[in-house]
Order: sequence, then C-alpha cells, then structure tokens
Amino acid sequence: MAYDDQNIFAKILRGDIPCTKLYEDEFALAFPDINPQRQIHILVIPKGPYLSLEDFGANASTEEITGFYRAVSKIVQENGLSENGFRAIANTGDHGGQEVPHFHVHLLGGEPAGKMVS
Ligand code: 5GP
Repeated sequence: MAYDDQNIFAKILRGDIPCTKLYEDEFALAFPDINPQRQIHILVIPKGPYLSLEDFGANASTEEITGFYRAVSKIVQENGLSENGFRAIANTGDHGGQEVPHFHVHLLGGEPAGKMVS
C-alpha cells in the first residue's frame, strides 16, 4: 500500500487542517486526539510519510527513529504521564483498527487505561 498524502494527519502536518500543537520538533508532532478515550489522549506522529509502525521501523532512517522516540519520551514527561504511567498504542492495518494511514502513537493516561483488549 502506497502512502496517501491526502490522509488527515498529512493535512495536519501541512497545516491544511488545524490542531492544538502540544509538541513539535524536526521529527515529530503531537496534538490531542479529537475524540479522547481517556482524560489524557495524545497522538504523536512522525514528520515523514510512513504508513504504520511496521513501515516506520522498516524504512525510516536511524535519525528519524531515534528522533521520534526521543520526542515520545519528552511528550510523556511534559504531560505528566511518567508518575502514574500510561498506555501507548499503535493501531496497525485493518485488524489493528487503524483509521488514519499515517503512523501514530496514541498516549492514553490521566486515569487507569483498563483492560488491554475489550
Ligand atoms: P487510529 O484508529 O488510526 O489508530 O486513530 C486515529 C485517531 O485519530 C482517532 O483516535 C481519531 O479520533 C483521531 N482523529 C481523526 N481525525 C482527527 C483530527 O482531525 N484531529 C485530531 N486531533 N484527531 C483526529
């Protein structure tokens, strides 16, 4: 499957669709999920055009991968998720329930995440 640059997160990255920026650097952008599933629900996306966690791990440069995961840790710390913990989710493909075909990590916290699979 080819990357579709009309997906909603690509539009957010281009500034075509607004978002509330919680964090931005060369490698990553973070913003609140429009439909939060927990008190804190943040989406972290890489700047590059990667479809999924699998695509990112296979095809992103070492610098992009390091930069992205360093950003995830900063976002965790800056949003008070370190002390009580959080859940990180990367839905992937049809069976994973991925709706937006641009790699993203959901950070869920501020309250217990509950059972892993419902
Ligand atoms: P997925 O199901 O692909 O893992 O998650 C996509 C997430 O993107 C969903 O939780 C959905 O609420 C969120 N989302 C979809 N469109 C927008 C948008 O325009 N802005 C923001 N902030 N979140 C969005």
